[in-house]
Amino acid sequence: MKRFKTIKKLMHSLNYDLFRREKEIELSVQELSLPTRTIPEPPKANLPSIEELYLLFDKINITYFDNKLPQAKIEYSTRMTNAGSYTPALKLIKISKKYHEIFPDDIEDTMKHEMIHIIHFYHNAEFKKEAARIGTTLKAKPHPSLRRKAKYLYLCPGCKKEYPRQKRLRMASCGSCSDKSKYDNRFKLKLVKK
Ligand SMILES: [Zn+2]
Ligand SMILES: [Zn+2]
Repeated sequence: MKRFKTIKKLMHSLNYDLFRREKEIELSVQELSLPTRTIPEPPKANLPSIEELYLLFDKINITYFDNKLPQAKIEYSTRMTNAGSYTPALKLIKISKKYHEIFPDDIEDTMKHEMIHIIHFYHNAEFKKEAARIGTTLKAKPHPSLRRKAKYLYLCPGCKKEYPRQKRLRMASCGSCSDKSKYDNRFKLKLVKK
């Protein structure tokens, strides 16, 4: 009972913290609106600490799963451009820093989504049922700044399939057309755009 009270108290402070952050961001945007024509860059969101993410996990676990989900490890990822991920072998939820600096309000949604993955690995019918039950989205919002633009565009001379790539390709041929999926000179990918 005492532990439950503590969690309730912590939940309250967490809600408060998340709310306060939003207010602070709003304020600083107003402060930055100088009477010039330049539009200030929105400040990077002050994301919850790892401790607060664990509290969020507890809150969702209590509210939607009768506190029965097994504990997972939680980490921020600085590289991931998806909203989040769950790795069953490590029992690890990763929350994307980049994504939530752009969509700070989506943290709870991402956490709910990844927590369903603890019991349903795939986005199958059971997953979707749970997502509907606890009110979370199925897919992260796409955001142009998160999609790394391909530096090179290659084209298969056979099927005309496009291969956008970050790096230059040397000996590469079309995966669909090449014989026995080995390098096939007839379908060598051609650089069409740099
Ligand atoms: Zn997912
Ligand atoms: Zn092809």
